[in-house]
Amino acid sequence: MKHRIVVLGAGYAGAFAAGNLARRLSPADTEITVVNAVPDFVERMRLHQLAAGQDLAFRKLTDVFAGTGVRLRLARVTGVDPERRTVAVTGEDREDAKGGARGDGELAYDTLLYALGSSVAHHGVPGVAEYAFDVTGRASALRLRERLAGLGGGGTVLVVGEGLTGIETVTELAESRPDLSVALAARGQLGTWLSPKAHRHLHQAFDRLGITVHENTGIAAVEPSWAITADGRSIPADVTVWSAGFAVHPIAAASGLEVAGTGQIVVDRTMRSVSHPDVYAAGDCAYAIGDNGRPLPMSCASAGFTNMQATAAIIARLTGSEVPTTGLEYYGNHISLGRRDAIIQMVDGDVRSKSWYLGGRTAARIKSGVLRGAGWGIAHPTFGMPKRKRRLATATEPAGAKVAA
Ligand SMILES: Cc1cc2nc3c(=O)[nH]c(=O)nc-3n(C[C@H](O)[C@H](O)[C@H](O)COP(=O)(O)OP(=O)(O)OC[C@H]3O[C@@H](n4cnc5c(N)ncnc54)[C@H](O)[C@@H]3O)c2cc1C
Repeated sequence: MKHRIVVLGAGYAGAFAAGNLARRLSPADTEITVVNAVPDFVERMRLHQLAAGQDLAFRKLTDVFAGTGVRLRLARVTGVDPERRTVAVTGEDREDAKGGARGDGELAYDTLLYALGSSVAHHGVPGVAEYAFDVTGRASALRLRERLAGLGGGGTVLVVGEGLTGIETVTELAESRPDLSVALAARGQLGTWLSPKAHRHLHQAFDRLGITVHENTGIAAVEPSWAITADGRSIPADVTVWSAGFAVHPIAAASGLEVAGTGQIVVDRTMRSVSHPDVYAAGDCAYAIGDNGRPLPMSCASAGFTNMQATAAIIARLTGSEVPTTGLEYYGNHISLGRRDAIIQMVDGDVRSKSWYLGGRTAARIKSGVLRGAGWGIAHPTFGMPKRKRRLATATEPAGAKVAA
């Protein structure tokens, strides 16, 4: 029987990991299945652009994995049973069901790579779930896009949250809709973590785009046409965009896997669950300690580093070789400020901003190149396909047997 590797989620971490595993492990004794809720690869890093009205191309996952041997199951994961080594799914178009009926099902695994990413964190603030918009998923970004399209000139938009996604979202919206009155609510002060020059650059960009900044302003409730601050003031907002952080899906915590307070799966240096050795985690849902001794931030870069380490460890353990240590770095942030401006801010080992930063059009071009590179890497999972794929340590044929044609 083949070793069944199931990858949950085909975002930056899961899609890349599945391609990498298929590239290196022989299909003669491994079977790789990816489960994803939607049929496309969604470039989450561009969802604020989608919300702002730009047209993005979404690549079909069937095209991404065509010819790789990876099996794709389009279904929503509802649970993991790490004792029985099964995954519960729902909403799948089952091949055996007549008339395209959608059904519940179960998949068995020998090795699981959990990469379900994250979604918006409401923090229990009243009115957010009912009235606020967000850009953390394609469906919600499209909802915001539609709402903005129906909002006439002079309408008010409030983006809540001064983190990276809040900054990228508010600048993108202000640039694409100069006819709107766009504001940002920051619980603290905007961009104080940046180097002094980058901080100045950020404020100049906000001024240029006409964004009003409400600093030291926590939002305590959201209503249909305004937001209420912690000190009882009302900020007009025909549209409130909630951008106050990411939260992971509760599936991991409910499954009995050891999780951190954030709900992320606690992993060792090889991205293996500390409670269940058949389970690995990568991307936003992994609580991984980086090489600087601190938890890696939820980011595309961390998704890259963690999936590289997870796949290297899975391959090594299955093929009986030494587990390599790959880098788990946090270098800094590339922050877009609309389409023509950006800030690249590097950080040191203590996550303090270095004095050097890059801003302006060159930074915007580099950021755009990084996004294109990430998308290209996902879309070409067989790039660099080795001539020989590795056999499992238990395989009867010699290790390094030729790839089946
Ligand atoms: C607007 C925006 C801008 C960003 N900009 C940057 C940036 O500039 N730089 C940066 O480093 N990071 C950025 N990020 C963060 C980055 O996008 C995430 O950290 C990254 O996507 C994490 O990758 P992942 O593979 O863990 O999760 P995801 O990319 O979210 O992938 C998770 C996958 O799992 C699937 N899934 C989820 N739940 C289920 C389920 N129950 N069943 C089946 N499938 C499911 C999803 O459909 C998705 O395909 C940005 C995020 C946003 C929203």
